Amino acid sequence: MVCEMCGKEVRTKLMMVEGAPLNVCEGCQKFAVGETVVKTDTGRVISTPIADRLQQRSRRMGSRDIYNQGSEKIIADDYGARVRDKRRQMGMSQDELAKKINEKKSIIIKVENQDIRPSDKLVSTLERALGISLKDSIEEVEVGTEKEAFKRSMTLGDFIKYE
Ligand SMILES: [Zn+2]
Repeated sequence: MVCEMCGKEVRTKLMMVEGAPLNVCEGCQKFAVGETVVKTDTGRVISTPIADRLQQRSRRMGSRDIYNQGSEKIIADDYGARVRDKRRQMGMSQDELAKKINEKKSIIIKVENQDIRPSDKLVSTLERALGISLKDSIEEVEVGTEKEAFKRSMTLGDFIKYE
């Protein structure tokens, strides 16, 4: 590609220069302040501020379901393992734990395998019975969703073509 700023026949990148998308070489990219333009498979051109906003939106949507309504703490990612580890530490079988908290053994198995998300009530019951916390503060979860968003943006990057 020919750089549309200096005319050099080099590898160029489509960037936003003073509001217009231009193919510029590496040397001229410094004039395209902070705005990288990317072209998707469908030929749609999006500037990174928009891509960032889309990413933020998907991050919000993706994290919505892991928040307990109104609660500042949410269930830990590894709640199943926490239950299983502590139960074993205390020398209890799944049967014994089930009896202790007045639940079915199948519920304990499902919780430990994280096949089901325990209700708030069951979470508190398990926490009391085992003397552990099954919840994380939202700050810790935010770190997790950052990672998720990063993974998502990598996937997005896979089908974005740079010119
Ligand atoms: Zn150039």
